[in-house]
Amino acid sequence: MARILAIANQKGGVGKTTTCVNLAASLVSNGRRVLLVDLDAQGNATVGAGLDKDAVAVSNYELLTGEATAQMVCCRGLEPGFDVLPANGDLTAAEVSLMEAGEGRERRLQQALAPIIDAYDYILIDCPPALSILTVNAFVAAHGVLIPIQCEYYALEGLSALLDTIERVRQTVNPDLAIEGLVRTMFDGRNNLATQVGAQLLAHFPDQVYRTQIPRNVRLAEAPSHGLPVLQYDRSSRGAVAYMALASELLRRQGASGQAKGGVR
Ligand code: ADP
Ligand code: MG
Repeated sequence: MARILAIANQKGGVGKTTTCVNLAASLVSNGRRVLLVDLDAQGNATVGAGLDKDAVAVSNYELLTGEATAQMVCCRGLEPGFDVLPANGDLTAAEVSLMEAGEGRERRLQQALAPIIDAYDYILIDCPPALSILTVNAFVAAHGVLIPIQCEYYALEGLSALLDTIERVRQTVNPDLAIEGLVRTMFDGRNNLATQVGAQLLAHFPDQVYRTQIPRNVRLAEAPSHGLPVLQYDRSSRGAVAYMALASELLRRQGASGQAKGGVR
């Protein structure tokens, strides 16, 4: 059964989509079967994973309104083991339709993913920059939330609203939802403020903050315009190396917690 991770932060431009696409590609490169789910109407993750968002026949609009199954919407990504449930501007209408739907509207994604959950090792959901019904659908479907954080002055602002939303979902529909981790993105070690905020995060959330920091790297910003994850675009770049390290850390942490839960002595 796949481990489902929502990549979320209601702030825009903090590196959610970049993390989703490049972590997915790095997990695939580690031999894992990965499904990327684009839940942002901008469709940036869809494009970043190599698809033409306006050419897809059906997308997550049809998935969430129940007009299509995950098997129908699923597209093959750039390489074997990397699939995508794509999104485009149509997703805005799905959001409106979900808002008007009645009970169970926050479970639509969970139900849509259920038939294909065994076909993958990881399902990564790229959330929109809002604590909307789409993000709530991701939190209900997920086992964990991975939170990209840009180390700047306002980095922690909004984090409590995000944590409150996670807590609310935990108390209602998904009690097992974990905070998978906080990932420091676009990190510039020459910038004193970034270093301070990074250290402050580590002090507040010692267990949740990933040790891997994603540096600011122009290759990461260029890769999407070629429709490629950075690993395919420039595998020796600092960005590619960092996302490979992030994938290793994620696999290591999951291995450790799996052992703890399994009671290995
Ligand atoms: P979000 O999905 O949170 O809105 P994105 O992943 O789209 O954020 O990133 C916002 C912008 O910053 C994009 O143009 C992206 O290419 C760029 N970007 C993201 N991470 C990095 C990085 N580590 N180094 C340089 N540019 C980055
Ligand atoms: Mg995004």
